[in-house]
Amino acid sequence: MSDVFQFMKLSRNPGEKVEAAVRKIEFKEIYQPLHQVDAAEQAGRCLSCGNPYCEWECPVHNYIPNWLKLVDEGKLFEAAEMSHKTNSLPEICGRVCPQDRLCEGACTLNQGGFGAVTIGSIEKYITDEAYKAGWRPDMSKVIWSDKKVAVIGAGPAGLACADVLVRNGVKPVVYDRYEEIGGLLTFGIPEFKLEKAVVQRRREIMQGMGVEFVLNTEIGKDIEIEALLEQYDAVFMGMGAYKYMKGGFAGEDLPGVLEALPYLVNNVRQCMETLPAGEAAVSMAGKRVVVLGGGDTAMDCNRTAIRQGAKRVTCAYRRDEANMPGSKREVANAKEEGVEFRWNSQPVGIEQLPNGALAVILAETRLGEPDAKGRRNAEIVAGSEERIECDHVIIAFGFQVEAASWFDRAGISSQPNGRTIASEKSKFKYQTSHAKIFAGGDQVRGADLVVRAVFEGRQAAEGMLSYLQVW
Ligand code: FAD
Ligand code: SF4
Repeated sequence: MSDVFQFMKLSRNPGEKVEAAVRKIEFKEIYQPLHQVDAAEQAGRCLSCGNPYCEWECPVHNYIPNWLKLVDEGKLFEAAEMSHKTNSLPEICGRVCPQDRLCEGACTLNQGGFGAVTIGSIEKYITDEAYKAGWRPDMSKVIWSDKKVAVIGAGPAGLACADVLVRNGVKPVVYDRYEEIGGLLTFGIPEFKLEKAVVQRRREIMQGMGVEFVLNTEIGKDIEIEALLEQYDAVFMGMGAYKYMKGGFAGEDLPGVLEALPYLVNNVRQCMETLPAGEAAVSMAGKRVVVLGGGDTAMDCNRTAIRQGAKRVTCAYRRDEANMPGSKREVANAKEEGVEFRWNSQPVGIEQLPNGALAVILAETRLGEPDAKGRRNAEIVAGSEERIECDHVIIAFGFQVEAASWFDRAGISSQPNGRTIASEKSKFKYQTSHAKIFAGGDQVRGADLVVRAVFEGRQAAEGMLSYLQVW
């Protein structure tokens, strides 16, 4: 067990990182697991603050100091049960949350310059190690009702909703159009951040709890919403945000210009050996690649291209480094792996050159006054355009929500930007304009983070339990 001054004696250790020269040629997670002694020692650095800011900044409000104490005391199974009280996918959030902006950013040790407690690594450690040691969620006290809920979408929001429902005795049946669960966890985020075996293990855990998955099934195509409304007591929608955002400049449709998500997904499917017949993953081996964008998707494209053996990867973003939306940790990892960044560079066009290559036209920007959200707008410096020759351009400007064609028929209201209307303030939490249908995750809030989708899926499940009078 630690003493109160452990944070002074031991420096922060989030787990060893595979060195760049090795990791840039493989699609494997780059952070090594913590060993038991390190996890306990790192957990012991927590000050157990009376008012833990980390809990407030964590979108699911994890009981962080409580499970850190259990790890410090070697009580792994108790820590696993405790961490699942607030988070349905703790081992996944531990891997992919931008902790520097959330829990760890708020850690008191940061203020004193001691380095935050490695909350993410320990959260991952708890479930990974408990599972290996035989832990499974304790379902012994569940009293089963006769209620059944259809969940559309096996992404973080749908999985979290199903987790809370099943723990409260309501049978969830989760439908997804893809062949595997996870949503963007599987068909988006690459293996070097989250190995697919971790998602498949979560599938086993959930099936063991009584969650049923119906895959390769699209609602609105293979099954109509009316059929679900007839067969189930309620429906949850966690269908994500998939409408590709364009830059609105000339040349975006030229051959060799790729959309980020299909590029990433086909690469993941190739690694998983599930690429549909006739489809191929684009290889960047030996190519000069320009990635446009500054979020997590852009970083994943940069680092995927590096791993495929690209000759050069340049990432252009219209604001400066301090104003990038992506996780600082992932930007640092990308730099170490050899990605060149062009800050304050706004794409204004793409051209095909006579030699068959592409040229991205980048204009220099300077940051203007902050907008209503406090973000400083990028303004183009006149006459600053320059061309970068390349073989492929990957556009990663983000995603928007698109209302499904059947929403009107089902009486589901959306905002003008496509987001489904549902919130904590709905009569039952996250109920849509159709009393029996609830929604959460990217579909409601727009493209965001895994942990926020988990939070909304859990909240919606609570709303459904009240609506179904199970609570
Ligand atoms: P999704 O994960 O999109 O899941 C929606 C599911 O619904 C999908 O499986 C889809 O197939 C299914 N579906 C949709 N319509 C139907 C239908 N009609 N019938 C059946 N099934 C349907 N967040 C982080 O926190 N950290 C990161 O590092 C990070 N990296 C990212 C990298 C990339 C490349 C991308 C694109 C996103 C990243 N994100 C990251 C964001 C994060 O993945 C999403 O915010 C999160 O997955 C949203 O969860 P969701 O459940 O709302 O939607
Ligand atoms: Fe931190 Fe994310 Fe875990 Fe919350 S869920 S404690 S923000 S890593």
